[in-house]
Amino acid sequence: MRCFAGVDIGSTAIKIVLIDEAEEIRAYKITPTGSHFHRNTLEALDALLEDSGIRREEVLYITSTGYGRKLFKEADETVSEITANAVGALRAGGACGRIRTVINIGGQDSKVILLDDDGHVSNFVMNDRCAAGTGRFLEMAARNLEVGVDELGEYHLNCRGAPVVINSTCTVFAESEIISLLAENHDRGEIIAGIHHSIARRTLRLAKRIGIEEKVLFDGGPALNRGLVAAMEDELMREVVVPDLPQITTALGAALVAKEAFISRGEDIHV
Ligand code: ADP
Repeated sequence: MRCFAGVDIGSTAIKIVLIDEAEEIRAYKITPTGSHFHRNTLEALDALLEDSGIRREEVLYITSTGYGRKLFKEADETVSEITANAVGALRAGGACGRIRTVINIGGQDSKVILLDDDGHVSNFVMNDRCAAGTGRFLEMAARNLEVGVDELGEYHLNCRGAPVVINSTCTVFAESEIISLLAENHDRGEIIAGIHHSIARRTLRLAKRIGIEEKVLFDGGPALNRGLVAAMEDELMREVVVPDLPQITTALGAALVAKEAFISRGEDIHV
């Protein structure tokens, strides 16, 4: 088999996607980034190849992206996460119609990307200065509430009361606010729904700086949280498309870029 790899080294998780010549996903892996970016990425790639039975020589081209992309020397090229996210989102959300806005929430940042009629990036805006409104904020909240980050969605969807209003716009103050709410015996689901709405409102404010156009795709690890998706739809007052594997969209985009780059070098993948 001939494959192309997209390696997305995020602040929180390394995502690797292997696609074949027909651009089908053959294997993928998500693993914590940790502090040894390069070693952990190499180990993740080796493990993915081993688990999928794909040999290293079958991977014709590797494109890396994300926060730590430049540290992965084995990559044939690097691409910005804005480009990779846009390419991946167009592919992952394509079945739902043309994607014009991508909202990505990652471990430590959030961004909104606008795409034109041809699927090119026409504008983008990013918040990478503050952990509020990111995956890290959700992890902090989950820890304080003693629930798993993967359980937040269920708590939100099963909650019957109104979301608690979270006033703090800073992670540190929000943490104290959550602890106070727990001490006042507020329902966990209502607090969690409040946190999701606070993140969604923050994201909406970010998006409004460049505008929002239909259709909107929401991706990144936090898009796995169905409660956050519901809050996002509520605050945006429109439906959002969430791909089946929202955390690997950017890595998928990088793999598609890898295939294009390989072909544009004049290499024939069918020999
Ligand atoms: P980055 O690319 O910046 O490393 P990701 O897009 O991988 O970030 O998202 C990481 C975040 O996704 C985590 O901080 C966490 O909040 C969230 N997350 C990861 N797995 C899940 C899950 N199963 N359910 C809900 N949220 C999750």
